[in-house]
Amino acid sequence: MQVVKTVKIPLHYSTTKRKLSILDKLTARLTYGVALWSRLIEEYDVEDRSRLRSRALEARVKERTGLSAGFVQCCGDKALWMWRSYRELHRTWAKTVKMAESNKEEEWLKKLLRREPKTPLSSGSRHKIPIWFDYRVGQLERAKRIKMASHVIRVATLKRGEWVTIPLNPARYHIQLLGRGTAKSFQIVKKGSKYCVHIKIEYGVLDAPVAGVLGVDLGVRRHAATVLLSGEKPNKLTPRSFLTIRDGEKKNRLDGLNRLVSELQRAEKYDTLRRLRHKRKQVAEYFDRLSAKRLADISGGCLLVVGYSKGVKYRNFKGNGKKKLRKALTRWSYTRIIRFIVEERAERGLSTAVVDERWTSKTCWKCRSRHTLRMNQSTLFCPHCGMTFNADYNAALNIGLPYLAKAARRRAEDEPAQQTEDEQAREIVARKLGSQHPSRGWQLTFSQNHLLGPVNRSSTRPMSMSLFFKRAPIASKSQVDSGAGLERMLYFFTKSSWSL
Ligand SMILES: [Zn+2]
Repeated sequence: MQVVKTVKIPLHYSTTKRKLSILDKLTARLTYGVALWSRLIEEYDVEDRSRLRSRALEARVKERTGLSAGFVQCCGDKALWMWRSYRELHRTWAKTVKMAESNKEEEWLKKLLRREPKTPLSSGSRHKIPIWFDYRVGQLERAKRIKMASHVIRVATLKRGEWVTIPLNPARYHIQLLGRGTAKSFQIVKKGSKYCVHIKIEYGVLDAPVAGVLGVDLGVRRHAATVLLSGEKPNKLTPRSFLTIRDGEKKNRLDGLNRLVSELQRAEKYDTLRRLRHKRKQVAEYFDRLSAKRLADISGGCLLVVGYSKGVKYRNFKGNGKKKLRKALTRWSYTRIIRFIVEERAERGLSTAVVDERWTSKTCWKCRSRHTLRMNQSTLFCPHCGMTFNADYNAALNIGLPYLAKAARRRAEDEPAQQTEDEQAREIVARKLGSQHPSRGWQLTFSQNHLLGPVNRSSTRPMSMSLFFKRAPIASKSQVDSGAGLERMLYFFTKSSWSL
């Protein structure tokens, strides 16, 4: 299985000012090239690459920018990509507007109309636009004559036939990856005043055997609900098939940081705030990465199917009366979590399916009826077949079931399994309305092999991460007031390492 990864490598600190100024000029000119292409694409309604490659258009850009043919084409590709994603966004937006109109939701419609996607480069942002360099205009090489840097990029400059060599400063992890795979292409990105190079690396991983399906429903309140469906016996659901992964510690950490930030804002300590600027994002990413690793570890030997709720933040617009949900949603980055899961599993030679999770939380997994009732946050009741089930696991089942072999699925529907009834009975007994989530008790009994069952145990690594992470020492409010606690908190948040 081929894995493509993009790594971000900074330029080496020994890069001379002359080279930086060459880069400045080059990236500025390339941005101009992309902008020019963007205008042409709009004017001539270019939709595919074959029309983009028309001689007349290329000649126009070449004449105005003075760029070489290779650069002109790379700029064109970038502009076309921007327009393609704009058009896709606009299509979805138009569909949503239509839906709001037919449902007569005035408030939502008003908000939607203000959020029409803008055409590329119309926002007036002055950021430079990075392009993907292909072999004609740039190459990544191992450094031969430069001792300090292990890798360099060679880039064509604005002067015809003249190339510049720029040293990179890769970390050990980057060097390892570069040694393992082949670099496909790279971008030169300027952020603030600093440059870094984004390199797309492709490498092969041995495919791991797959014998089951793991349906995963990501959630705002808990990290993920999972259901294991093994290939041979899809209908044998036992309590061991179900597992919830929680990330309570992430919430604690973020809450602590938020408190700290507001304390500092009150105390007007702006220097410290500046240092803490990216901390919240880093903490969130760290915990998401940890959860993804955990999920990848327990899902060895399975095809993992994860539900993707496209536009959930978008649909929960301000003023819909669900204030708490929106607050929770701002912290929830399912796109990043899914990306991490896909990455972590790819590292282990496992593929992941990402599916649209629309209706999965409402549909009854047994009789496929959509007219179900939520008895409370975690319980679903189906009046059609009389099933009471945990809502999260129901969604995970709906996500995973279509991926089981067709014949196996039919068998599951024909004869409701005895064990499933047990599982339900257990749930109903364990739960009074509004009480704790029933899966809490199960967590204690969970161990590495439970989920894997007959599925290729040897392919998984021993689990090294604990389900709950050790709680950080967070100072109490009185300590914060006295100043000493603040110091300690600062020390903790700035000095502790989050790198993976
Ligand atoms: Zn039903």
